[in-house]
Order: sequence, then structure tokens, then C-alpha cells
Amino acid sequence: MSTTPQLLPELLQAISRSLAEQAEEITALDQAIGDGDHLINLQRGLHVLTSQIAELALLDWKQTFQKIGMSLLSNVGGASGSLYGTLFIAMSKATPDNAALNLTSFAAIFAEGVEAMKKRGKSDAGEKTMLDVLIPVAEQLKTSAVNAEALSDVLPAVAHTAIAGMESTRYMLATKGRASFLEERSRGYLDAGAKTAQLMICAVIEILRSNKTS
Ligand code: ADP
Ligand code: MG
Repeated sequence: MSTTPQLLPELLQAISRSLAEQAEEITALDQAIGDGDHLINLQRGLHVLTSQIAELALLDWKQTFQKIGMSLLSNVGGASGSLYGTLFIAMSKATPDNAALNLTSFAAIFAEGVEAMKKRGKSDAGEKTMLDVLIPVAEQLKTSAVNAEALSDVLPAVAHTAIAGMESTRYMLATKGRASFLEERSRGYLDAGAKTAQLMICAVIEILRSNKTS
């Protein structure tokens, strides 16, 4: 796994590209059971982070996560701004100074971040949100780390888990966020936040795979 934030520009670009490619579908999903601004919220965050990229790439991971979290909290509206802001700030708290990330350390850091999101959103798996992707991915990373799996096996497995998590939201009843106002009518649609979480994770994985990190 990448050990320095120097890969960040490439990661941000890949994430932005992936979301842009799926823009219509994401917005249609959020219009169906949300208020239609989810993609715009994420794109605002990505735009701000891209403008800070030179600065971010010079920091260590702890500081990078902190700065990303603060930028998202202060610039991105909606549930996703506060939830992703919380993710990165909690990840920063769990990262030692000057840490070089590997599978084991990243799995622990990411799991702390997802736990903080659960508290912030007062939500858990099975409620038709982005957490239906992020929680199984965090669990998958921890299991892979415990089993000392090779990154070449872990990356496709994580992508598979993210896609399965996203798909799992289709027939769920939304019990959190705006979609919950629709009650039974929320069933039958994928959750937009789960879709974008999956796309962002898969974009990161593609870059890590093409960088042949081990
Ligand atoms: P808003 O719903 O405030 O307009 P966004 O459109 O940016 O915010 O994000 C909507 C997404 O946020 C949903 O699709 C869902 O995945 C996620 N979400 C909403 N509320 C929660 C919550 N309480 N816990 C976890 N995720 C949530
Ligand atoms: Mg919205």
C-alpha cells in the first residue's frame, strides 16, 4: 500500500473521474429518494481538496487526514459532508505522527474512522446508507490484515465487498437520512451515498493496483 500522501493527486483525480462518469445515475438515485444534491456535495469537496493538493501532498498522513476532514466539514453541505469530514478526522486521530501506512495500520485507522461515522450519523449497517459499503469494507480490511493476505488478493476482495454492499441497499428500507421520509417507498432504489462510496473505493483500488503496491 502507498506509504506517503504523494499518491493523493492521482487518487483524487481517479475519484473525480469515476464520479463524473456515473454522474447521471448518482443524481437520478438521489433525486428518487433524496434531494438530488449528493453528487454536487461530493464534487464541491473534491474541488476544494484538489485546490489544496500541493499542500496536502507535503504533509504526513496524520496531518493529511486532519486537513481533508476539516476541509470537508467546512466546505461540504449535507449529511455526506459531515460524515466524510468525521471519517477523516477520526482517521487522523488514530494515525501516529509520520506513520507509514501498511495494510494492518490502515485497517485499524479506517475502522476507527467508520466507527466515528456510525456515532455521528447515529446509524449502522442495514439502514440503506453509505455505511452499508463502508462497514463491510472496514471489516474486510481487518480480516485481511489478520490473515496477512497479500495486497494483490486484498484489493480485488475489497472491491468485491464494496460492490456487494452497494447492491445490498437496493431492497433495504431507509431508516436514516432523507430517504427515511419515504418509508416503504424507499425500497427498490440503490442508496446514492452507498453508490458513491463504492465508486470512490473502487477508484482508489484501481490506482493502488496499477501502482503495483505490495
Ligand atoms: P443530504 O441527505 O443531507 O442532502 P447528501 O445528499 O450529501 O446529504 O448525502 C446523502 C447520503 O448520505 C445518503 O445517500 C446516505 O448514504 C448518507 N446518509 C444520510 N444520513 C445518514 C446517516 N444518518 N448515517 C449515515 N449515512 C447517512
Ligand atoms: Mg442530498
